[in-house]
Amino acid sequence: MKYAANENGYEVVDFEEIADVMVVNSCTLTNRADRKTRQALYQAKHLSPDGILVLAGCLPQVNPETSREIKGVDIVLGSRDKFDLFPAIKDYQKNKEQQVRISPVDNTERLSSAFIAATDRTRAYLKIQEGCNNFCTYCIVPYARGNAVSRDFDNTVEEARKLAEKGYKEIVLTGIDIGAYEDQDRRLIDVVKTLEKIKGLERIRISSIEMNTLSDELVEHIGKSKKVMPHFHLSLQSGSDTILKAMHRKYLTADFSKKIETIRKYIPLASIGTDVIVGFPGENDALFCETVDYIKKIDFSYLHVFRYSQRKGTPAATMKGQVPEMGKKARASILDDSDRNFRSTYAQQFIGTRQAVLWERFEEGFLYGLTPHYIEVMIESSKNKHNTISEVELTKDNIVSS
Ligand code: SF4
Repeated sequence: MKYAANENGYEVVDFEEIADVMVVNSCTLTNRADRKTRQALYQAKHLSPDGILVLAGCLPQVNPETSREIKGVDIVLGSRDKFDLFPAIKDYQKNKEQQVRISPVDNTERLSSAFIAATDRTRAYLKIQEGCNNFCTYCIVPYARGNAVSRDFDNTVEEARKLAEKGYKEIVLTGIDIGAYEDQDRRLIDVVKTLEKIKGLERIRISSIEMNTLSDELVEHIGKSKKVMPHFHLSLQSGSDTILKAMHRKYLTADFSKKIETIRKYIPLASIGTDVIVGFPGENDALFCETVDYIKKIDFSYLHVFRYSQRKGTPAATMKGQVPEMGKKARASILDDSDRNFRSTYAQQFIGTRQAVLWERFEEGFLYGLTPHYIEVMIESSKNKHNTISEVELTKDNIVSS
């Protein structure tokens, strides 16, 4: 598959194809993420030995020395410097010397650069916020991405308008702590209300948001909105108050439950997904059981389960009571089962209802798309209805994610 050439004259190709420039945008949230970055770098170089290899993002930001020493890497760009990709390529082509650009992450000017990830013409991810001031004890993000900064409001609206003009039907608003969005007196709800007025933009989705920054006003608005999808991703991380306190999360389970009640009051069938970390230091069997019990009470739509990963430089890395990998694995597997149950139970509620589906893929006579509640649907079709929205009655056979 090939995508349109961008303004800099480059054409994006699939990872498996030979490329002139290979960019690995890294995450360093877990040890596993670091391993995947190294694997991707190796594979990219193997596929395109003559191409320019770029390592960008969090790994270089947190570990500059290690990053520049990785074999074959020609350009190293920090979290905010990745927007300098094209000038860095030019400099490399001119000098044939490794280019390293890692500036401090508290540089607020960079966020107005468009950061848009989109692989087809249906859904685009528009980053409106970067960085985080929360310093949860397990998390490397505040060190890798710096303090919280928000994209300029007018620039946000302008970028969204351009995306709609290019044909994108759905925009997912993203950020590290998106609920903390603030540009002068404009908040997330103002962004949402303004984007709803953009012609051609049919759907707005809010990505992962911290429970304590999701305002009741925004929830109520989403309940009435035709364009903002009834889908929330609220990171719980643990269902044990003891662990939540040790994590320095800014809520306890009672606060979380209250927010869920508010969501269900305005949007009874809202999709509510969450992240959970298992094996945080000090999490014994009893505390893990508290999480399992709490999760059952909430009835999520899906869970993303993570095994705690020791990140050097974070307070939790040196806490007592580190949990062995085997124990983390066993706990993750229990929650993975809960995830499967949640997905299936949640999707089944929609069987027999008609839902608007935005068709995202057409492959071998089948259309794939998502409902407003984030349920994946697949139907047989003789027509390619890619990037259109049509209503479908959900059945146990056409739901993919149950
Ligand atoms: S709020 Fe999220 S990004 Fe910020 S420190 Fe906590 S886990 Fe990390």
